[in-house]
Amino acid sequence: MTHPKQFEILDRCPVCSSSAISSFRRGTFDYLSIQANQIKITDKDYGKIWDLWRCAACTYIFANPAPTASFIHSLYRDVEDPAYEDEAEGRRQNFLPILDVLERFHPHKGRLFDVGAATGILLHSARSRGWSVDGIETGLWSVRRGREKYGLDIRAGDFISADLGSRLFTAVTMIDFIEHIPTPLQAAEKARRILSPTGTLCLVTPDAGSLAARMMKTRWWHLRPGHLGYFNRKSIVTLLNKAGFTIARVRRYAWTFSAHYLLTRIPFLAPLAEMPGLSSFWKSLRIKLGLRDSFEIYARKAARR
Ligand SMILES: [Zn+2]
Repeated sequence: MTHPKQFEILDRCPVCSSSAISSFRRGTFDYLSIQANQIKITDKDYGKIWDLWRCAACTYIFANPAPTASFIHSLYRDVEDPAYEDEAEGRRQNFLPILDVLERFHPHKGRLFDVGAATGILLHSARSRGWSVDGIETGLWSVRRGREKYGLDIRAGDFISADLGSRLFTAVTMIDFIEHIPTPLQAAEKARRILSPTGTLCLVTPDAGSLAARMMKTRWWHLRPGHLGYFNRKSIVTLLNKAGFTIARVRRYAWTFSAHYLLTRIPFLAPLAEMPGLSSFWKSLRIKLGLRDSFEIYARKAARR
């Protein structure tokens, strides 16, 4: 399938609108010919970055030129990622602590909306705990998989432009979503609009200021073609405040993966992953990675100014 190749040069920061932006790091792959298979959740192209610019005001780092929202949408629509579902159990383990926190804020639960729902692993868990669930996902393969595997009716489409009706939500989750889009402020503002006055947004995104990011430098595993923006503490707080949120809680996100998944991502160990008789053992062995290099932020609606 061919895609319209659409890019634009930004003259302002996509988070705080400051014009004090400048080139930060040269790109390391041919992003002008980017394909859908390079932006899978499970892609292994670590260390690959767009031409990155940095905002002197809020410190947000972002792709510039940036793909247009419609171009990025057309790419994600075509993504197929069977490896994502192979890790369903590990991902479910990642999501349960998020539901624990949301249920402390909202003991009676309510309506939960997941932005970038993928195949619906979070929604499936939330529904089984008594939440009424809804969500949206761009990838048509993931939407289909969510219906077949979990019986979920995930909306297919773009969150920012979607008509989600007038009923408000108790919780909105955005897990590893905001760094994939060129317009993070619009996404956060939309989340605020669909939340009830007492509702909570949970946002998870890599922390470019984390120890892991600083130590691994150009080999940090979150530097990848799918990521159009990189937040640190200052820029993520700026984003949420601009969108009308106050921060209620910040935690560090620990990832759970199978040993198989991790081995296939380390080139010199990859042959071990596929050894006859061992492959299923690696898949059953779960490892919790305490890298702590992602934010897990809970934000509430600020009173209207
Ligand atoms: Zn900025």
